[in-house]
Amino acid sequence: MKKWFAVIGDPIEHSKSPEMHNTWFEEMNIDATYIPIHVKPEQLEEAVSSLKLLGANGWNVTIPHKETIIPFLDELDELAEKMGAVNTVVRTEQGKLKGYNTDGKGFVHSLEEAIGNQHREKQVLIVGAGGAARGIAFALKQYGYKNISIANRTIGKAEAIINELEIGSAINLLQAEQTLDSFEIIIQATSAGLANGDFQLPFSLEKLQPEAIVADIVYNPLKTYFLNSAEKLGARTVNGLGMFVHQGAIAFEHWLKQYPNTNSMIKRLTERLEGE
Ligand code: NDP
Repeated sequence: MKKWFAVIGDPIEHSKSPEMHNTWFEEMNIDATYIPIHVKPEQLEEAVSSLKLLGANGWNVTIPHKETIIPFLDELDELAEKMGAVNTVVRTEQGKLKGYNTDGKGFVHSLEEAIGNQHREKQVLIVGAGGAARGIAFALKQYGYKNISIANRTIGKAEAIINELEIGSAINLLQAEQTLDSFEIIIQATSAGLANGDFQLPFSLEKLQPEAIVADIVYNPLKTYFLNSAEKLGARTVNGLGMFVHQGAIAFEHWLKQYPNTNSMIKRLTERLEGE
């Protein structure tokens, strides 16, 4: 029987997930389809019941439902439970709804695809302590990264993650700016660059080491102001599209037990974003 999948969110029309998953189904000869569904916060419970009733095999969850969907699910994977957020739902063979979070792992897959997996001892700085930063911090720890600091405008949010992780330290943005030369991998995980459409840095990169690796998880624009500035200072950069594609690929694997081709998808979506 044809399988079907969806992404629910508000707004949803700009999501690249339907194109990504439908392309993979076609490439891999899988008889399935993936549709975007606009679900407002007050419709979430009804939407989950309807997806279940109508036999969806699984779905992705995006802003603003990643946390609020949890009470409507039957089980959570360990990482999703720790993060308190779900971006992928699988309908199990027993008909239960199980929530996963593939964002953080997607980031680590993307980072290691770009730089290899030999950097796990390095000093890592995550800038930001929102949902995405939290997922990245937990996934980095799960993959064996040992030195993780988190800088955030609201320091209490960085402290909360560090306390749960039980490694690294929480600092404010000024401290991050002043000690930037002690970090070897820097991950921009705030939405600051998107605020009001003006691409400001959350802090100055003056002390960046030229041999640092700098990643930004924002992928539209592909080359953010943060990455551009880091590149000008000689750093190696990783954009946020790989994270998006790999979080989708990990979700796809949860649903269909196969890992799709991420390289051709990154190439395809890079062309699409460059053309926008
Ligand atoms: P949240 O709203 O949960 O967190 C936002 C973060 O940005 C907080 O740390 C917040 O700091 C910080 N921030 C916002 N504005 C400013 C500012 N002007 N100066 C300094 N810090 C600021 O968002 P998410 O974590 O869900 O998402 C963050 C970004 O990551 C978004 O742009 C999103 O599009 C992108 N993303 C990319 C993904 C991908 O697949 N590539 C996946 C998920 C997200 P404070 O705590 O002080 O408010």
